[in-house]
Formats: sequence, structure tokens, C-alpha cells
Amino acid sequence: MGGFLIGHLMPRVPFMVLSRRPGFNKRFPEHPHPIPLSPHLTQRVLHMRRFHRLGTWTTLLPLLIGYMCLVGGQAPLGYGMFLASGWTILSRAQSLLGGPTLPCTLEMAQNLQLIMNRCDSDDSCCSTPSPEWRIEDIRCASCSEKLEGTPRPDLGRNRQDGFFRGWLRLWISDGRPMVMTEPSEK
Ligand SMILES: [Zn+2]
Repeated sequence: MGGFLIGHLMPRVPFMVLSRRPGFNKRFPEHPHPIPLSPHLTQRVLHMRRFHRLGTWTTLLPLLIGYMCLVGGQAPLGYGMFLASGWTILSRAQSLLGGPTLPCTLEMAQNLQLIMNRCDSDDSCCSTPSPEWRIEDIRCASCSEKLEGTPRPDLGRNRQDGFFRGWLRLWISDGRPMVMTEPSEK
């Protein structure tokens, strides 16, 4: 059981811990308020993407240790680590086969940039566009037009629901948005 927990938690440590350092989130409003679109936000999406990828690599460690435990006769501990980290690697590998990708992607960052560009152009939603990322979608704070239907993933801010509940939630969701969006009728 202990081995299973270690194998399961290891890959999640980078995005759950590294992004929540004090000072890392000074440029953003507190969770769960909307985040205005800016180069900082785009950079944050890329940072989170890197943390998640790092997590896939740290999975190799319990996989290796688990294997060594199995070989060395520590079967109960080894099985748990080996199974849990193997499972994580398999679920991450799904994205290569067209399955769900990591919560933060390069396309997401590029999309944010496109929305900002559009707001600066003649095609903007109103005369004073101020796009912000809410929980369910990206909207303009001035005219509240929906600019993009992407729900907001976890972006590393300290969660308002407290240390333990916040962590539990992150652990379960893996940083993905907890809301499901209805396909819009267009
Ligand atoms: Zn607007």
C-alpha cells in the first residue's frame, strides 16, 4: 500500500508543489478569481506544461525503485510502486494515441496569444476589450462576450479551499478543469 502511494504521488509532485512556491503567483489574482489574459498567463501555461512533463519523468524513479525492490525480494513495496507508476505512465502515454492530453498544452498557450491579438485588432468584441480566463471559459470583462470555450485548468495558484482540500482536489483532477462544458450550439 505504501509503495502504491509513493508510485502514485511522485509524478504529481512537480505540478502540485513547484508551482505553489510563495512569490510565484504574485502577478495573478487570488484563486478562484478570473485571470486577465497577458504574456504572464501565457508563460504560466507553458510553465505548468513543463511541470506536468517533468512529472512524467519523475514517474520513472518509482518504476525503477519498484523494480529493484521486486528483484531484491521486497515484493509488497515493489509491486505497489511498480504498478502505480506503471499505470501513470500508461495513462500519460494515451495522449500519444490521441487520448486526453496533459491539462496544459502548447496549443492552449498559442490560443491565448491569438485571443489577445484579436482583442488588439479591429475584430475585437468591443471598444475596451479585457479578456479574462474564468472557470468555465474565456470572456471579455467589459462586454462579457464569450471569446473561447476553454475551461480553466489548474494554473498553480494556491487554492482557496485550503491546503488539504485543495491538494485532494488537485490530486484527483490531475490539474484538469473540474467543470464540464456543454458543447455550444452554433
Ligand atoms: Zn468586449
